[in-house]
Amino acid sequence: MMNLIFLGPPGAGKGTVSQRFIEDVNIPQISTGDLLRSAVKAGSALGLEAKGYMDSGELVPDNLVIGLLQERIAKDDCQSGFILDGFPRTIPQAEALEAANVKIDKVINFDLEDDVIIKRLSGRRIHKATGKIYNVNPGGIPAVPADMNPDELLQRDDDKPEAIANRLVVYRNQTEPLVAFYEKRGLLATVDANNDLPPIIIALNDILGL
Ligand code: AMP
Repeated sequence: MMNLIFLGPPGAGKGTVSQRFIEDVNIPQISTGDLLRSAVKAGSALGLEAKGYMDSGELVPDNLVIGLLQERIAKDDCQSGFILDGFPRTIPQAEALEAANVKIDKVINFDLEDDVIIKRLSGRRIHKATGKIYNVNPGGIPAVPADMNPDELLQRDDDKPEAIANRLVVYRNQTEPLVAFYEKRGLLATVDANNDLPPIIIALNDILGL
C-alpha cells in the first residue's frame, strides 16, 4: 500500500514521471486535471462549471475538485495505493484529505524554476488517442516518436503563453504553501525536476526504498 502525492508546478514532470513510475508499481496515477478535462469533454454540469477556470489557468473551486477526487480514490483500483498528480493544490484540499482519513505515505516535491517551466510547457503536447504526454522542444522529454504524425498531437489551451503565466502565479500563491504544510508533517521529499527522467526515477525509488 503506497499513497503518494506528486506536488510541484505545472510542467515539472509530475505526469511524465508518473507514467514511467507506474510501469513498475501497480498503482494508478490520478490526475485531477485529467478528470476535469474528461468532465469538460463529456459536457457534464461539473465540466461546464470547471471549464472557464481551467482555460484561464485559475484553480477550479475546492468543493468541486474535492468531491471528484474522493469519488475516484474510493474505486477498487486504488485499494493498493495511488499517485495523486495535481491534487491537493490548496491547503483546504490537503485538509480535506486529512479530514477523510486518507493516509499519505510520502509527498514528492518536484522543484523547478519558472524559466524552465515556461519553456517546457510551451513544448508540451498531448497524444489525442492515448492522453500520453510528449514534448516537441529540441531535446524535449519524452521525445515525439519519429513515426508519429504531428496531427495526432494537440496543445492544451492552458499551455498557451497567456495561461502559462497565470498558472505559475497561481501555483506560487496557492499551491506552494503545501510544501511547508507537508514538511511540518514529516512527509516531504524533494527531487530536482531539472534532471532527466532516469535520474528522477532513481531518486524516487531511493526515497521510497524501492
Ligand atoms: P493540470 O492538468 O494538473 O495542469 O490541471 C489543469 C487545470 O485543471 C488546472 O489549471 C486547474 O484549472 C484545474 N485543476 C486540476 N487539478 C486541480 C485541483 N486540485 N484544484 C483546482 N483546480 C485543479
